[in-house]
Amino acid sequence: MGSASPTELPALKTNPKFIFFTDFDGTITEQDSNDYITDNLGFGQAPRRKLNEDVLYGRADFRDAFREMLDSITAPLDQCIEVLKKNITLDPGFKAFFAWAKENNMPIVILSGGMEPVIRALLAHMLGPEEADTLQIVSNHVATREGKKDVNEVGGWQIVYRDESGFGHDKSREIRPYANLPADERPVLFYAGDGVSDLSAAKETDLLFAKAGRDLIRYCENESVPFTTFNDFSDIHATVKDIVEGKLNVKEAAVGRK
Ligand SMILES: [Mg+2]
Repeated sequence: MGSASPTELPALKTNPKFIFFTDFDGTITEQDSNDYITDNLGFGQAPRRKLNEDVLYGRADFRDAFREMLDSITAPLDQCIEVLKKNITLDPGFKAFFAWAKENNMPIVILSGGMEPVIRALLAHMLGPEEADTLQIVSNHVATREGKKDVNEVGGWQIVYRDESGFGHDKSREIRPYANLPADERPVLFYAGDGVSDLSAAKETDLLFAKAGRDLIRYCENESVPFTTFNDFSDIHATVKDIVEGKLNVKEAAVGRK
């Protein structure tokens, strides 16, 4: 098996020793934006929670469950984005981590089951447009619904999945080419996530950070996936810094639920 060349792997451009893959919703942000619009503009929290449980316990595909949630929202896309800008907040430790990662040549790659225009708008709002532009985002998309003219009309938009997998966006496909690099070229890979959209990525990296109190932890324990927990990015920052400085290795860091 040949290895992918750096031109096919954008995060290798600066020859990093470490790459930080991360979920967006509920990980970089304190709330999940898709949950928020489903709960407040769509069919509400109870059916949404039930669908999340179904995915977590393998009774439903993320792909179908997530589409059902988003299809319950008829508000125009621009209105959804405005509501989210007012209600979604950045993880309190992310800005400092983001600045430190830049100084230390550690690319941050966002792997999201969410929709690119929503993520871009929120990041630009929370980090500033120029800073937001420096982040690579790999996510799902949005398109105008059949019979409608524009995403910004009532019932006008729908999610478009990135791939044909049951995840809609199988995050492992983005990580695996890096994981499969020959040992002397392969950076250490991190992943941070919180929920059902992260199940496809959970087993792929050298160290998984799972958000305290959220669904991903139960999955990791059920599936015996090594992980460590975080409350916010200041925890991640401290651990990653220790690893980068050689004070801790990834195996020692995967202590499970604290
Ligand atoms: Mg999430």
